[in-house]
Amino acid sequence: MNRVPPLADTGLWQAVMAAASGRCQCRGTCGKNHTKDGGRCPREHGGYQQHHGGGTVHLIAAPSDPATLLLPPHKAAALPRQALAAWCPTCHDGARTAARKAQHATAPATAPDSLFDLCPPGRTPCPSP
Ligand SMILES: [Zn+2]
Ligand SMILES: [Zn+2]
Repeated sequence: MNRVPPLADTGLWQAVMAAASGRCQCRGTCGKNHTKDGGRCPREHGGYQQHHGGGTVHLIAAPSDPATLLLPPHKAAALPRQALAAWCPTCHDGARTAARKAQHATAPATAPDSLFDLCPPGRTPCPSP
């Protein structure tokens, strides 16, 4: 499992954390509804977590929309601050897993026919259709 945050400790990260008041902004995207915590994950950056082995919580700045959560880090880094949210690692993992499942559910089961018209890589010249 890749544990490197999509956005490292940058000015953007600082801005996202400031907007989130240093608290995880997950409202159930991870699959937990957080109802006993007022509908929002209670983890705060630098706070102590009692679960998952304990230690200090390090929040991550990552896309807030599940549709963009699966973007590779260099694309996520190009998003505007408004498209980012503060995530604790647990919610971030959960939300990405949920987004991946949703993506699989909506992906077409079969490849489009046009794929068969493409040249196989490394085989040139390509016969024209
Ligand atoms: Zn959280
Ligand atoms: Zn959550």
